[in-house]
Amino acid sequence: MSNKKINIVTTGEHDHAGCIEDAILKAELVCKNNNLRFTKIRKKVLQLIWSSHKPIGAYEILDSLRAEEIKAEPPTVYRALSFLIDACLVHRLDSLNSFVGCVDPENTHQGQFFICQDCNNVSEFNDHEISDLVESKMKSNGFSATHQTLEVMGHCNNCK
Ligand SMILES: [Zn+2]
Ligand SMILES: [Zn+2]
Ligand SMILES: [Zn+2]
Repeated sequence: MSNKKINIVTTGEHDHAGCIEDAILKAELVCKNNNLRFTKIRKKVLQLIWSSHKPIGAYEILDSLRAEEIKAEPPTVYRALSFLIDACLVHRLDSLNSFVGCVDPENTHQGQFFICQDCNNVSEFNDHEISDLVESKMKSNGFSATHQTLEVMGHCNNCK
């Protein structure tokens, strides 16, 4: 039995500047390959989302933009977010009504997440066996999903 876990994010001690840099490079590539415009504001919002591995809400993003004296209104942020979600650069966590950067935007996947209730860090993993299983259960129940995200709440290795 193969256990294909792709790109689990290390949320312990690590060089986070490297994560941000990597995320921006991947985003530039994804946008270039799909003919999408990676405007200044979209890039800025993605950088803010990647400022940590903790999910961030739309209003926190707005506050951070304003703190940097970037003029922005809620619709600006929501438009940038919906672009980033559509481009698979960001995932929306429904249970927290907030957003995290995608660790693997170059490969289509259904997001699966471990969310730590203590430190708020989110680890994304993408196991095709899980999404395939959900898919087959849906089919056998005649259910058609528009979107599939698995959010598991708990305590991470650092907080246990
Ligand atoms: Zn990091
Ligand atoms: Zn992802
Ligand atoms: Zn934790």
